[in-house]
Amino acid sequence: MIAKLASEARFKDVVLAPRGGGTGTNGQSLTDGVVVDISRHMNQILEINAEEGWVRVQTGVVKDQLNAALKPHGLFFAPELSTSNRATIGGMINTDASGQGSCLYGKTRDHVLALNSVFLDGSEWLSEPMTDAELEAVKQRNDKVGEVHRLVDAIHSENRALIVDVFPPLNRCLTGYDLAHIRTEEGLFDLNSVLCGAEGSLAFITEAKLNVLPIPEYAALVNIKYAGFQDSLEDAKQIMGCGPTSVETIDSKVLSLAMQDIVWQTVEDYFPQDAAEPEIKGINLVEYTAASQAELEAGVARLTAYLDEVNQQPAKSFGYSVVYGSAEISKVWAMRKKAVGLLGNAKGQQRPIPFVEDTAVPPENLAPLLQSSGRCWISTGWRMACLAMWMLVFCMCVRRWI
Ligand SMILES: Cc1cc2nc3c(=O)[nH]c(=O)nc-3n(C[C@H](O)[C@H](O)[C@H](O)COP(=O)(O)OP(=O)(O)OC[C@H]3O[C@@H](n4cnc5c(N)ncnc54)[C@H](O)[C@@H]3O)c2cc1C
Repeated sequence: MIAKLASEARFKDVVLAPRGGGTGTNGQSLTDGVVVDISRHMNQILEINAEEGWVRVQTGVVKDQLNAALKPHGLFFAPELSTSNRATIGGMINTDASGQGSCLYGKTRDHVLALNSVFLDGSEWLSEPMTDAELEAVKQRNDKVGEVHRLVDAIHSENRALIVDVFPPLNRCLTGYDLAHIRTEEGLFDLNSVLCGAEGSLAFITEAKLNVLPIPEYAALVNIKYAGFQDSLEDAKQIMGCGPTSVETIDSKVLSLAMQDIVWQTVEDYFPQDAAEPEIKGINLVEYTAASQAELEAGVARLTAYLDEVNQQPAKSFGYSVVYGSAEISKVWAMRKKAVGLLGNAKGQQRPIPFVEDTAVPPENLAPLLQSSGRCWISTGWRMACLAMWMLVFCMCVRRWI
């Protein structure tokens, strides 16, 4: 009804902005016009099909709410984000959200099977990958649904070469219209590739059919020691090749703060320091999750085989430990979390200034990027939250030497 009214001439100047949890960092759901709060009344989980591994929800459902409902079925919605206790599925779809674990699970778009949308003239549409014949039929429609399909198909067909040229080979596309994936690998037309990440600019998304996965019951964390922070970053590409769930790098500054804090006592066994070894100046925390112990050990073995092969080589790691079980693993993550907080209380007058956040960098470019930051001093944690190639840098404080 709202969308239908908005299409009337008398309301043509009224701007509508769908809103989920309102956690979008750019304030995307803010407007001088009318905010349509989807989370208020459209927050029902409509259907869970555990057998086929999918769920159908209204898009005002909060991510943690969905996972709480899926838990008794041994399932979960895999895309992760820090604001999971308030961000909605609609917001996640429209920002193509992802976070820790995306090395393995990808981003929200990778788990969207179908979307129900309402366009600005009130027309409704269920979008799923479609054949060319189906696309031609939709393009004949005399409403926004037809118009959007005509436009997107024309942009894609007329600019195919340019799109291939301009779009870098990203696995993590962030927000924006993902024109590069309008056609699936099977050649089907998939409007969901532009609806996901559209930041509410194309339609109200009212319902979503989502792929859900078995909860991984087994977890391991490999703690890798380096003599230099740069070395730990240089290793990113090789580590990514070993198929982890997530990777996080900690530099010497954050590490030394942790070592001076009481929290270190809870994890020091996992970072033994032999007098014959170099000082630890960088750490990679590499997490594996799996549905069985055998699958878990196979993942860990891929990484440790690589580490054993390069052990003590110049600019490589010089030791590692493996932690099994979520209780022990959470101690290491707690140390990391606390240590980053300790930065704010570092001794002296110099203070870290939040400078760049949420930057996506291919792992192979991360070390050169930091090197090229010249006289800047980079501290705190990096989270490699990526599919095979991409890295989401979560928290980066830069302090200039004055
Ligand atoms: C502290 C902090 C940490 C964060 N960490 C992460 C992270 O780890 N990973 C990550 O990806 N993001 C992260 N974010 C960003 C944010 O949480 C995500 O973008 C989240 O997906 C937004 O969800 P939301 O429900 O709050 O959406 P909102 O902020 O309400 O809206 C986001 C966009 O989606 C549109 N929208 C919302 N619902 C609908 C709908 N039903 N139909 C059409 N359009 C809609 C809005 O118009 C807006 O453009 C973080 C943000 C903060 C503040």
